[in-house]
Amino acid sequence: MHINQIFLKDKPTFSFEFFPPQTRSQAEILYENITRLTPLAPSFISITYGAGGSTRELTHDLVLKLNKEEQLTVIPHLTCIGHRKSELKQMVNSYRTKSIKNIMTLRGDIKSTDGKTAGDFDYASQLVRYIKKNFPEMGIGVAGYPNGHPETPNRLQEMDYLKHKVDQGADFICTQLFYDNHNFFDFQERIRLAGIKIPLIAGLMPLTSIKMMKKMSKVALGTHIPGKLQRIISQCKNQQEVQSAGIDWSTAQVENLLRNQVDGIHFYTLNRSQATLQIYKNLEL
Ligand SMILES: Cc1cc2nc3c(=O)[nH]c(=O)nc-3n(C[C@H](O)[C@H](O)[C@H](O)COP(=O)(O)OP(=O)(O)OC[C@H]3O[C@@H](n4cnc5c(N)ncnc54)[C@H](O)[C@@H]3O)c2cc1C
Repeated sequence: MHINQIFLKDKPTFSFEFFPPQTRSQAEILYENITRLTPLAPSFISITYGAGGSTRELTHDLVLKLNKEEQLTVIPHLTCIGHRKSELKQMVNSYRTKSIKNIMTLRGDIKSTDGKTAGDFDYASQLVRYIKKNFPEMGIGVAGYPNGHPETPNRLQEMDYLKHKVDQGADFICTQLFYDNHNFFDFQERIRLAGIKIPLIAGLMPLTSIKMMKKMSKVALGTHIPGKLQRIISQCKNQQEVQSAGIDWSTAQVENLLRNQVDGIHFYTLNRSQATLQIYKNLEL
């Protein structure tokens, strides 16, 4: 289903993100957790893409498998760095012919020191424009950063870039993970002031361990982990307590977002289900 129809149907949307497994045991974990989460009837699920094409086939095959077998609306991620236009066109076309109706359109993280991406596009906005021109029927999602994107410290300029990206044909924005709802509401206010009217989905990743907190701070650079949350985590006596504190924190975030009429909530599941299921249970969703 096209994302615009999904937003008309589900107010708010609930969605889950997974990454393609690299090994047989990872695949077993993924399918087990998808089976647990499917009864929650998500508005859509999304599958990440390894920047530069590192999971090209894995993402593609998983998207098609889940789309066919699980009757879920699946949104593949696609990053433009390191790809030629022809490759990107071929990938989107392959999805289109298999009834995939939306693409999460990204740039990917640049690994080179000169900032160049060694592909035909340097920014996600160019890929949005390209998909819109060649596949106008596709729904398009783009990324937004409540804590700011590390490459653009000037937040006013960053908003101009985001507005430009949206104007190329995006249908929704999904945010990077955040732990302080004030950052989200402030971002929401700033994008609306900039004249961006498309739905804004809040991306949440419940903290489940200290190791994961440290890893995520490296991957999602710039993510602010509030002092209050860090204090709660530091007072936990064992892993079980950390996990339940992280889930309680995200439960309060979701409750507050729902009370403030958020357009959608997206769970970064890391291919697990326990935290998401517990949040649903806590809030009787
Ligand atoms: C919801 C979500 C899903 C993600 N999924 C994936 C995934 O599946 N695979 C993956 O590899 N990564 C993923 N990422 C990470 C993402 O690829 C990185 O954060 C990347 O660094 C930026 O991608 P972008 O699409 O936001 O890029 P862009 O929108 O192109 O922005 C990148 C940077 O360039 C700046 N910029 C934009 N236009 C210009 C311009 N014209 N001139 C100068 N600067 C400009 C922006 O302000 C920003 O700092 C995801 C991120 C989010 C939030």
